[in-house]
Amino acid sequence: MSPSRNDLAELELRELEADLAAHGVEPFHARQLYRWVYKRGVTEFDRMSDLSRDLREMLKREFTIGTPRVVSDDRSIDGTRKFLLELADGRRVEAVFIPDTPAMTFCLSTQVGCAMSCGFCLTGRMGLVRNLTAGEIAGQVRVLAGATGLLDLPFNIVLMGMGEPLHNYEHTMKALRVLHSEHGLAVSPRRVTLSTVGIVPGLERLAHEPLMPNLAISLHATRDEQRSELVPPNRKYPLAAILDACRRFPLKKRSRITFEYVLLSGVNDTPEDARRLVRLLAGIKSKVNLIPLNPAPGIPYERPSDERVDRFAQILADGHLTVSVRKSRGRDIRAACGQLIVEGGSKKSAAQQMALLMR
Ligand code: SF4
Repeated sequence: MSPSRNDLAELELRELEADLAAHGVEPFHARQLYRWVYKRGVTEFDRMSDLSRDLREMLKREFTIGTPRVVSDDRSIDGTRKFLLELADGRRVEAVFIPDTPAMTFCLSTQVGCAMSCGFCLTGRMGLVRNLTAGEIAGQVRVLAGATGLLDLPFNIVLMGMGEPLHNYEHTMKALRVLHSEHGLAVSPRRVTLSTVGIVPGLERLAHEPLMPNLAISLHATRDEQRSELVPPNRKYPLAAILDACRRFPLKKRSRITFEYVLLSGVNDTPEDARRLVRLLAGIKSKVNLIPLNPAPGIPYERPSDERVDRFAQILADGHLTVSVRKSRGRDIRAACGQLIVEGGSKKSAAQQMALLMR
Protein backbone atom coordinates (compact mmCIF):
# COMPACT_ATOMS: atom_id res chain seq x y z
CA MET A 1 0.00 0.00 0.00
CA SER A 2 1.42 3.39 -0.92
CA PRO A 3 1.49 5.70 2.10
CA SER A 4 0.22 8.57 -0.06
CA ARG A 5 -3.07 6.82 -0.68
CA ASN A 6 -5.96 8.01 1.43
CA ASP A 7 -7.68 5.38 3.58
CA LEU A 8 -11.36 5.69 2.84
CA ALA A 9 -12.18 3.70 6.01
CA GLU A 10 -10.91 6.62 8.09
CA LEU A 11 -13.28 9.14 6.51
CA GLU A 12 -16.67 10.37 7.60
CA LEU A 13 -19.05 10.84 4.69
CA ARG A 14 -18.54 14.61 4.48
CA GLU A 15 -14.75 14.12 4.50
CA LEU A 16 -15.02 11.57 1.72
CA GLU A 17 -17.22 13.97 -0.26
CA ALA A 18 -14.59 16.69 0.15
CA ASP A 19 -11.75 14.35 -0.87
CA LEU A 20 -13.66 13.20 -3.93
CA ALA A 21 -14.54 16.80 -4.83
CA ALA A 22 -10.80 17.57 -4.82
CA HIS A 23 -10.54 14.95 -7.60
CA GLY A 24 -13.47 16.50 -9.50
CA VAL A 25 -15.87 13.72 -8.43
CA GLU A 26 -19.55 14.43 -7.58
CA PRO A 27 -20.54 14.02 -3.89
CA PHE A 28 -23.20 11.37 -4.61
CA HIS A 29 -20.38 8.95 -5.42
CA ALA A 30 -19.31 9.19 -1.77
CA ARG A 31 -22.72 7.86 -0.77
CA GLN A 32 -22.38 5.03 -3.28
CA LEU A 33 -19.00 4.16 -1.84
CA TYR A 34 -20.38 4.16 1.70
CA ARG A 35 -23.15 1.80 0.62
CA TRP A 36 -20.67 -0.61 -0.95
CA VAL A 37 -18.29 -0.61 1.98
CA TYR A 38 -20.69 -0.57 4.92
CA LYS A 39 -23.96 -2.02 3.66
CA ARG A 40 -22.60 -4.65 1.32
CA GLY A 41 -19.21 -5.27 2.87
CA VAL A 42 -17.41 -4.83 -0.48
CA THR A 43 -13.91 -3.38 -0.30
CA GLU A 44 -12.57 -4.06 -3.82
CA PHE A 45 -13.21 -1.08 -6.08
CA ASP A 46 -13.48 -3.37 -9.12
CA ARG A 47 -16.60 -4.98 -7.66
CA MET A 48 -18.42 -1.64 -7.27
CA SER A 49 -20.46 -2.14 -10.39
CA ASP A 50 -22.39 1.13 -10.37
CA LEU A 51 -19.20 3.21 -10.52
CA SER A 52 -17.72 4.07 -13.91
CA ARG A 53 -14.49 2.41 -14.98
CA ASP A 54 -12.66 5.77 -14.88
CA LEU A 55 -13.84 6.42 -11.34
CA ARG A 56 -12.81 2.95 -10.19
CA GLU A 57 -9.35 3.44 -11.72
CA MET A 58 -8.97 6.79 -9.95
CA LEU A 59 -10.09 5.25 -6.65
CA LYS A 60 -7.59 2.42 -7.03
CA ARG A 61 -4.82 4.94 -7.61
CA GLU A 62 -5.73 7.38 -4.86
CA PHE A 63 -7.58 5.44 -2.16
CA THR A 64 -7.43 2.29 -0.15
CA ILE A 65 -9.98 0.75 2.22
CA GLY A 66 -8.17 -0.42 5.36
CA THR A 67 -9.92 -3.47 6.78
CA PRO A 68 -8.85 -5.58 9.76
CA ARG A 69 -7.85 -9.08 8.67
CA VAL A 70 -9.41 -12.05 10.45
CA VAL A 71 -6.60 -14.15 11.89
CA SER A 72 -8.87 -16.51 13.79
CA ASP A 73 -12.57 -16.94 14.54
CA ASP A 74 -13.08 -19.10 17.65
CA ARG A 75 -16.59 -20.35 18.34
CA SER A 76 -17.88 -21.09 21.81
CA ILE A 77 -20.38 -23.83 22.49
CA ASP A 78 -22.84 -21.06 23.42
CA GLY A 79 -22.54 -19.43 19.96
CA THR A 80 -20.21 -16.61 21.02
CA ARG A 81 -17.46 -15.96 18.47
CA LYS A 82 -14.14 -14.36 19.31
CA PHE A 83 -12.36 -12.79 16.36
CA LEU A 84 -8.63 -12.10 16.44
CA LEU A 85 -8.08 -9.24 13.99
CA GLU A 86 -4.82 -7.99 12.52
CA LEU A 87 -4.38 -4.31 11.72
CA ALA A 88 -2.29 -2.73 8.95
CA ASP A 89 0.79 -2.46 11.22
CA GLY A 90 0.56 -6.08 12.31
CA ARG A 91 -0.89 -5.27 15.76
CA ARG A 92 -3.75 -7.47 16.84
CA VAL A 93 -7.00 -6.87 18.72
CA GLU A 94 -9.97 -8.99 19.62
CA ALA A 95 -13.65 -8.38 18.96
CA VAL A 96 -16.48 -10.61 20.13
CA PHE A 97 -19.88 -11.50 18.67
CA ILE A 98 -22.49 -12.39 21.29
CA PRO A 99 -25.60 -13.93 19.77
CA ASP A 100 -28.07 -13.18 22.52
CA THR A 101 -31.63 -13.05 21.37
CA PRO A 102 -33.37 -10.86 20.45
CA ALA A 103 -30.35 -8.54 20.12
CA MET A 104 -27.12 -9.51 18.46
CA THR A 105 -24.15 -7.73 20.00
CA PHE A 106 -20.64 -6.88 18.88
CA CYS A 107 -18.12 -6.15 21.62
CA LEU A 108 -15.40 -3.93 20.16
CA SER A 109 -11.90 -2.91 21.16
CA THR A 110 -10.87 0.75 21.14
CA GLN A 111 -7.17 0.33 21.91
CA VAL A 112 -4.43 -2.26 21.49
CA GLY A 113 -4.02 -3.22 25.14
CA CYS A 114 -5.13 -0.83 27.87
CA ALA A 115 -3.44 1.60 30.24
CA MET A 116 -5.98 1.26 33.06
CA SER A 117 -4.44 -1.81 34.76
CA CYS A 118 -7.62 -3.07 36.40
CA GLY A 119 -6.55 -5.78 38.82
CA PHE A 120 -8.97 -8.44 37.57
CA CYS A 121 -8.50 -7.90 33.82
CA LEU A 122 -6.17 -9.74 31.47
CA THR A 123 -6.16 -6.91 28.92
CA GLY A 124 -4.88 -4.59 31.64
CA ARG A 125 -1.82 -6.84 31.90
CA MET A 126 -0.76 -5.90 28.37
CA GLY A 127 -0.39 -2.18 29.07
CA LEU A 128 -1.32 0.27 26.35
CA VAL A 129 0.31 -0.43 23.00
CA ARG A 130 -1.55 2.18 20.95
CA ASN A 131 -4.92 3.74 20.24
CA LEU A 132 -7.04 2.35 17.46
CA THR A 133 -8.02 4.73 14.68
CA ALA A 134 -11.67 5.46 13.90
CA GLY A 135 -11.41 3.28 10.81
CA GLU A 136 -10.01 0.39 12.85
CA ILE A 137 -12.83 0.65 15.39
CA ALA A 138 -15.59 0.91 12.76
CA GLY A 139 -13.76 -1.72 10.69
CA GLN A 140 -14.31 -4.30 13.43
CA VAL A 141 -18.07 -3.83 12.93
CA ARG A 142 -17.77 -4.21 9.16
CA VAL A 143 -15.79 -7.41 9.54
CA LEU A 144 -17.99 -8.95 12.25
CA ALA A 145 -21.28 -7.93 10.60
CA GLY A 146 -20.03 -9.42 7.32
CA ALA A 147 -18.86 -12.66 8.97
CA THR A 148 -22.11 -13.11 10.90
CA GLY A 149 -24.48 -12.09 8.09
CA LEU A 150 -25.74 -9.03 9.96
CA LEU A 151 -24.86 -6.23 7.51
CA ASP A 152 -28.57 -5.68 6.83
CA LEU A 153 -29.92 -6.45 10.29
CA PRO A 154 -30.01 -4.50 13.54
CA PHE A 155 -27.34 -5.22 16.12
CA ASN A 156 -25.99 -3.68 19.28
CA ILE A 157 -22.47 -2.46 19.90
CA VAL A 158 -20.74 -2.44 23.26
CA LEU A 159 -17.40 -0.71 23.65
CA MET A 160 -16.21 -3.18 26.26
CA GLY A 161 -13.41 -5.03 24.50
CA MET A 162 -9.76 -4.12 24.84
CA GLY A 163 -9.09 -0.55 25.91
CA GLU A 164 -10.74 2.38 27.65
CA PRO A 165 -12.86 4.27 25.07
CA LEU A 166 -12.65 7.64 26.83
CA HIS A 167 -8.87 7.33 26.80
CA ASN A 168 -9.15 7.28 22.98
CA TYR A 169 -11.96 9.80 22.78
CA GLU A 170 -11.57 11.38 19.32
CA HIS A 171 -11.21 8.15 17.38
CA THR A 172 -13.99 6.42 19.29
CA MET A 173 -16.48 9.22 18.66
CA LYS A 174 -15.48 9.49 15.02
CA ALA A 175 -16.03 5.74 14.62
CA LEU A 176 -19.55 6.15 16.05
CA ARG A 177 -20.27 8.94 13.55
CA VAL A 178 -19.03 6.76 10.68
CA LEU A 179 -21.21 3.86 11.85
CA HIS A 180 -24.21 6.16 12.28
CA SER A 181 -24.27 7.35 8.65
CA GLU A 182 -27.61 6.56 7.04
CA HIS A 183 -25.73 5.67 3.86
CA GLY A 184 -23.72 3.08 5.74
CA LEU A 185 -24.70 0.84 8.64
CA ALA A 186 -27.01 3.48 10.20
CA VAL A 187 -26.27 2.34 13.76
CA SER A 188 -28.39 4.35 16.19
CA PRO A 189 -26.56 5.65 19.28
CA ARG A 190 -29.33 3.97 21.29
CA ARG A 191 -27.83 0.67 20.20
CA VAL A 192 -24.34 1.60 21.37
CA THR A 193 -23.08 1.32 24.95
CA LEU A 194 -19.79 2.92 25.95
CA SER A 195 -18.22 1.38 29.01
CA THR A 196 -15.70 3.42 30.98
CA VAL A 197 -13.83 3.27 34.26
CA GLY A 198 -14.94 6.89 34.75
CA ILE A 199 -12.49 9.35 33.20
CA VAL A 200 -14.32 12.44 34.46
CA PRO A 201 -13.23 14.97 31.77
CA GLY A 202 -14.24 12.40 29.14
CA LEU A 203 -17.66 12.00 30.78
CA GLU A 204 -18.11 15.76 30.71
CA ARG A 205 -17.26 15.87 26.99
CA LEU A 206 -19.53 12.95 26.30
CA ALA A 207 -22.41 14.82 27.93
CA HIS A 208 -22.25 17.32 25.06
CA GLU A 209 -22.01 14.85 22.17
CA PRO A 210 -24.78 15.11 19.56
CA LEU A 211 -24.57 11.31 19.08
CA MET A 212 -24.61 10.13 22.65
CA PRO A 213 -24.24 6.41 23.31
CA ASN A 214 -25.63 4.69 26.39
CA LEU A 215 -23.26 4.94 29.30
CA ALA A 216 -21.88 2.15 31.47
CA ILE A 217 -19.55 2.81 34.39
CA SER A 218 -17.19 0.07 35.55
CA LEU A 219 -17.57 0.67 39.27
CA HIS A 220 -16.43 -2.57 40.93
CA ALA A 221 -15.97 -1.16 44.44
CA THR A 222 -17.75 1.11 46.91
CA ARG A 223 -14.76 2.51 48.81
CA ASP A 224 -12.06 4.66 47.25
CA GLU A 225 -9.26 2.74 48.90
CA GLN A 226 -10.42 -0.55 47.47
CA ARG A 227 -11.41 0.91 44.10
CA SER A 228 -7.99 2.51 43.67
CA GLU A 229 -6.51 -0.94 44.03
CA LEU A 230 -8.91 -2.64 41.64
CA VAL A 231 -9.30 0.24 39.17
CA PRO A 232 -6.16 2.42 39.49
CA PRO A 233 -7.56 5.49 37.62
CA ASN A 234 -9.70 5.93 40.73
CA ARG A 235 -6.67 7.65 42.32
CA LYS A 236 -7.21 10.52 39.93
CA TYR A 237 -11.01 10.30 39.54
CA PRO A 238 -12.45 9.07 42.84
CA LEU A 239 -15.94 7.73 43.38
CA ALA A 240 -17.50 11.04 44.45
CA ALA A 241 -16.26 12.81 41.29
CA ILE A 242 -17.49 10.03 39.00
CA LEU A 243 -20.90 9.77 40.64
CA ASP A 244 -21.23 13.54 40.58
CA ALA A 245 -20.55 13.51 36.82
CA CYS A 246 -23.17 10.75 36.50
CA ARG A 247 -25.76 12.81 38.38
CA ARG A 248 -25.17 15.66 35.93
CA PHE A 249 -25.16 13.43 32.86
CA PRO A 250 -28.02 14.38 30.50
CA LEU A 251 -29.92 11.12 30.15
CA LYS A 252 -32.56 10.66 27.50
CA LYS A 253 -36.08 9.71 28.53
CA ARG A 254 -36.23 6.19 29.94
CA SER A 255 -32.42 5.90 29.80
CA ARG A 256 -30.33 4.86 32.77
CA ILE A 257 -26.67 4.58 33.48
CA THR A 258 -25.47 1.01 33.84
CA PHE A 259 -23.06 0.36 36.69
CA GLU A 260 -20.94 -2.73 36.18
CA TYR A 261 -19.70 -4.47 39.26
CA VAL A 262 -17.36 -7.44 39.01
CA LEU A 263 -17.91 -9.63 42.06
CA LEU A 264 -14.66 -10.94 43.56
CA SER A 265 -15.07 -13.54 46.24
CA GLY A 266 -14.34 -12.20 49.73
CA VAL A 267 -13.14 -8.85 48.34
CA ASN A 268 -16.04 -6.64 47.24
CA ASP A 269 -19.02 -8.99 47.57
CA THR A 270 -19.97 -8.54 51.23
CA PRO A 271 -23.43 -7.39 52.41
CA GLU A 272 -21.79 -4.13 53.59
CA ASP A 273 -20.51 -3.52 50.04
CA ALA A 274 -24.01 -4.09 48.68
CA ARG A 275 -25.57 -1.69 51.18
CA ARG A 276 -22.92 0.95 50.41
CA LEU A 277 -23.64 0.54 46.71
CA VAL A 278 -27.33 1.23 47.34
CA ARG A 279 -26.42 4.44 49.16
CA LEU A 280 -23.88 5.55 46.52
CA LEU A 281 -26.35 5.21 43.66
CA ALA A 282 -29.20 7.04 45.41
CA GLY A 283 -30.62 9.70 43.10
CA ILE A 284 -29.03 8.32 39.93
CA LYS A 285 -31.20 6.72 37.25
CA SER A 286 -29.27 3.50 37.24
CA LYS A 287 -29.21 -0.21 36.75
CA VAL A 288 -26.57 -2.48 38.17
CA ASN A 289 -25.00 -5.30 36.21
CA LEU A 290 -23.30 -7.80 38.50
CA ILE A 291 -20.53 -9.80 36.85
CA PRO A 292 -19.23 -12.77 38.85
CA LEU A 293 -15.51 -12.88 38.02
CA ASN A 294 -14.30 -14.99 35.13
CA PRO A 295 -11.24 -16.52 36.77
CA ALA A 296 -8.10 -16.66 34.66
CA PRO A 297 -4.52 -17.74 35.23
CA GLY A 298 -2.53 -14.87 36.71
CA ILE A 299 -5.58 -13.06 38.09
CA PRO A 300 -5.38 -13.16 41.91
CA TYR A 301 -9.13 -13.25 42.59
CA GLU A 302 -11.83 -15.88 42.73
CA ARG A 303 -15.40 -16.14 41.58
CA PRO A 304 -17.92 -15.95 44.44
CA SER A 305 -20.39 -18.75 45.05
CA ASP A 306 -23.88 -18.43 43.54
CA GLU A 307 -25.25 -17.93 47.08
CA ARG A 308 -23.01 -14.90 47.65
CA VAL A 309 -23.98 -13.47 44.26
CA ASP A 310 -27.68 -13.96 45.00
CA ARG A 311 -27.38 -12.38 48.45
CA PHE A 312 -25.59 -9.35 46.99
CA ALA A 313 -28.22 -8.98 44.26
CA GLN A 314 -31.05 -9.30 46.78
CA ILE A 315 -29.71 -6.45 48.93
CA LEU A 316 -29.56 -4.21 45.85
CA ALA A 317 -33.09 -5.17 44.85
CA ASP A 318 -34.32 -4.53 48.40
CA GLY A 319 -32.68 -1.09 48.09
CA HIS A 320 -34.87 -0.45 45.00
CA LEU A 321 -32.05 -0.77 42.49
CA THR A 322 -32.62 -2.54 39.19
CA VAL A 323 -30.13 -5.37 39.14
CA SER A 324 -29.13 -8.11 36.73
CA VAL A 325 -26.48 -10.79 36.98
CA ARG A 326 -24.50 -11.13 33.78
CA LYS A 327 -24.50 -14.55 32.32
CA SER A 328 -20.97 -15.05 31.14
CA ARG A 329 -20.62 -15.90 27.47
CA GLY A 330 -17.76 -17.56 25.64
CA ARG A 331 -15.77 -18.59 28.70
CA ASP A 332 -14.48 -21.69 26.93
CA ILE A 333 -12.77 -19.50 24.30
CA ARG A 334 -11.63 -16.77 26.72
CA ALA A 335 -14.01 -14.24 25.15
CA ALA A 336 -15.73 -13.33 28.41
CA CYS A 337 -15.51 -9.94 30.05
CA GLY A 338 -11.97 -9.14 31.16
CA GLN A 339 -10.51 -12.13 29.33
CA LEU A 340 -9.32 -10.48 26.14
CA ILE A 341 -5.58 -10.47 25.72
CA VAL A 342 -3.26 -10.68 22.77
CA GLU A 343 -0.05 -12.49 23.44
CA GLY A 344 3.11 -10.51 22.90
CA GLY A 345 1.68 -7.10 23.83
CA SER A 346 4.33 -4.81 25.21
CA LYS A 347 4.55 -4.71 28.96
CA LYS A 348 4.61 -1.37 30.74
CA SER A 349 5.06 -0.73 34.41
CA ALA A 350 2.10 0.47 36.47
CA ALA A 351 3.81 3.86 36.75
CA GLN A 352 4.20 4.16 32.98
CA GLN A 353 0.56 3.26 32.52
CA MET A 354 -0.63 5.87 35.02
CA ALA A 355 1.60 8.45 33.30
CA LEU A 356 -0.14 7.68 30.03
CA LEU A 357 -3.50 8.12 31.72
CA MET A 358 -2.61 11.45 33.28
CA ARG A 359 -1.68 13.01 29.93
S1 SF4 B 1 -11.26 -3.75 32.59
FE1 SF4 B 1 -11.36 -2.42 30.78
S2 SF4 B 1 -10.44 -0.49 31.48
FE2 SF4 B 1 -9.82 -2.06 32.97
S3 SF4 B 1 -7.82 -2.82 32.23
FE3 SF4 B 1 -9.42 -4.15 31.36
S4 SF4 B 1 -9.84 -3.29 29.33
FE4 SF4 B 1 -8.80 -1.69 30.53
